[in-house]
Amino acid sequence: MRYHTPTTFAEAAGIAAAAQGVTRFLAGGTDVLVQMRAGMVLPDDLIDLKKIDGVDRIDPTPEGGWRIGVAVPGIALGAHEALRADWPGVVEGMELVGSTQIQGRATLVGNLCNGSPAADSVPGLVAAGAMAEITGPDGGRVVPVADIPAGPGRTTLQPGEVISALLLPPRGTAGGDAYLRFIPRTEMDIAVVGCAVNLRCDGDTVTEASVVLGAVAPTVVSVPAASAAIIGTALDDTALGTLAEAASAACRPIDDKRGTIAFRTEVAGVLAKRAARIAHARAKGENA
Ligand SMILES: Cc1cc2nc3c(=O)[nH]c(=O)nc-3n(C[C@H](O)[C@H](O)[C@H](O)COP(=O)(O)OP(=O)(O)OC[C@H]3O[C@@H](n4cnc5c(N)ncnc54)[C@H](O)[C@@H]3O)c2cc1C
Repeated sequence: MRYHTPTTFAEAAGIAAAAQGVTRFLAGGTDVLVQMRAGMVLPDDLIDLKKIDGVDRIDPTPEGGWRIGVAVPGIALGAHEALRADWPGVVEGMELVGSTQIQGRATLVGNLCNGSPAADSVPGLVAAGAMAEITGPDGGRVVPVADIPAGPGRTTLQPGEVISALLLPPRGTAGGDAYLRFIPRTEMDIAVVGCAVNLRCDGDTVTEASVVLGAVAPTVVSVPAASAAIIGTALDDTALGTLAEAASAACRPIDDKRGTIAFRTEVAGVLAKRAARIAHARAKGENA
């Protein structure tokens, strides 16, 4: 195995583009190193991104959003008060990943690029409208995070491409987001269902909404019908009921020992309702 420590993303992309065998990028390593230890992945080229300047930074963008470096661990996201104030749902999704030890290393980008349908931070990023800044052998591009997952263990990144940062949009006024997951025990488990809701209000009335499910299909699922169900409402019981039905209807889950299809489908609706209520309260400045 060749271990590389590039100092720029262009160099990292160049190494990846020239590599012939199995290639992995190393961010926090909490997926890659576990997979290597288990013999599931044996990279010919392991490209450590942590020597690249700025990868550990969270910076405000000129537009009023946030630029998050690819090696920022969950613990640093959680400790960043201004980021948490803007995007509590994104932060709480990442904070659910693993334990205190895992939080010291695990990153948003690694969670996204590992390609797990149950990745906890991805629904919140998609609901927020986050973008991925990508560096490739032929230059850069910026795409919605929603376009990155391609199925279990797969992404739409092209050979040689590396994500160089994640971009969160400006929060704006009267907005709130939330992420909830169901797991069979209290922590250190993989989501059986996850749901993120991001919305904006005018008074009590929801004016914009995005509802995104995790762990109920091969990739994260945006549910426009669930968003439509609450826009123009004050989140009354009828609107929440329609939201829950739409969320359940969008599920295409697997059936396994951790949750049947029927269970996952029902829980998706329940979590969508609860996450919407929390996001609504946050949008109105209430403590939720
Ligand atoms: C004990 C334990 C508990 C866990 N609990 C959870 C949990 O509750 N919820 C959850 O969602 N996950 C969980 N995980 C999985 C893991 O911790 C997360 O997916 C984590 O966010 C991965 O981030 P990382 O930085 O460690 O990724 P890494 O292991 O460094 O990389 C993961 C993948 O992303 C690719 N990659 C990394 N950076 C880039 C980049 N910049 N551009 C392109 N590709 C890149 C790598 O090639 C690799 O395929 C757990 C893992 C462990 C070991």
